[in-house]
Amino acid sequence: NRLKKYFPIKTGLLQRTTGYVRAVDDVSFTLLPGETFGLVGESGSGKSTVGRAIVRLADKTGGEIKFKGIDIYGLKEGDLRQVRPKIQMIFQDPYSSLNPRIRVGDAIGEALLDHGLQPKEEIRDRVLEVLGFCGLSSSHYDRYPHEFSGGQRQRIGIARALILQPDLIIADEPVSALDVSIQAQIINLFRKLQETQGLASLFISHDLSVVEHLCSRVGVMYLGNLVEMAPRDEIFNRPLHPYTKALLSAVPIPIPRIKRERILLKGEIPSPANPPSGCKFHTRCPYAKEECAERKPDFRDVGSGHYVACHLVD
Ligand code: SF4
Ligand code: MG
Repeated sequence: NRLKKYFPIKTGLLQRTTGYVRAVDDVSFTLLPGETFGLVGESGSGKSTVGRAIVRLADKTGGEIKFKGIDIYGLKEGDLRQVRPKIQMIFQDPYSSLNPRIRVGDAIGEALLDHGLQPKEEIRDRVLEVLGFCGLSSSHYDRYPHEFSGGQRQRIGIARALILQPDLIIADEPVSALDVSIQAQIINLFRKLQETQGLASLFISHDLSVVEHLCSRVGVMYLGNLVEMAPRDEIFNRPLHPYTKALLSAVPIPIPRIKRERILLKGEIPSPANPPSGCKFHTRCPYAKEECAERKPDFRDVGSGHYVACHLVD
C-alpha cells in the first residue's frame, strides 16, 4: 500500500478544491532496523513530505505507514503517545524549533518530562549524558540557544531527538545549512549514532556526497515518485535512471572511481500540480522516446535489491 500525499489546491472566493498537488504519489519502501536510508532528489521532489508524513507532521492522503508492523495512522491517541517518542525528527534549522528563552538543557529534558519517561530528579543527569554524546559539555546546559553556533545547535537538535531513545530518526537536510567543515563534524556525529545506538534513520538530502558517506541504501525521488532505489554502491557505481545519472553528474568526485556518463539537467522541475504525463521525467530526459510521454514506467526489480522506473531498462 503505497504512500500518497496530495495537497488540495483551493481557488476562488469559496476556496473550492480545484485540483491536487501530488507531492508524494505511490511511494513505497521499507527501512530495516539499524539501517540508514537516504532519500534524495531536488527540492520539490516530495522527499520532505515523506518524512513529515512518517512523523505525522503532515497527514497522508492514501497508503500506509507501518512502524514495527503497526499502521501508525490507525493508532488511537493513547497508543500513538507510546509510539511518538520512538520516531524523532531532526530538522535543517534547529534554531527555529528552540525556544530562545529556555536554557538548552531544559529544552532537551522537556521531552522526557512531557512523555513522563524518566523521574524528574534523574532528568538532568540524563541530559548531561546525551549532551556529552553529542559533543557538548555540562557547561552548555544552562546556556540559551542564541549563544550557540549553527553546528552546536544541530548537536542540540540531535540531543533532543536522542534523549527519547528513538528507534527511528528522520533527518531532513540536517547539514545543508552548515559550513562544509562543520558539516563533516555533524556527519561524524551521525556516524557515531549509527554505530552505537543501532537505530534506523531516514536521511533526507539533496546532497549526494553526504548521502554517500552515511547511507547504506538510497532512494531517488522525482516529482513525488521513487524512480530508483538500490544499495549505496549500486546507486553510485551503476546508476540506471537518467535522473540519478544527472544528479550524480552534478557531484564533484574527488577521485574518479568509475567513468560515468554525464547528464546535464535542463530546465526546472515541473510543478507537481500539473506533472507531465507518462514518465514524469520525460520533459527533461535526454533519452526520452515517444513511449515515455505516454506510458508510466513500472518500478521494476532488476536484481541485487536494485529497483528502477525507466523504459530504457525494460
Ligand atoms: Fe527518460 Fe523515458 Fe526513462 Fe523516463 S522512461 S527516464 S523519459 S528514458
Ligand atoms: Mg525539503
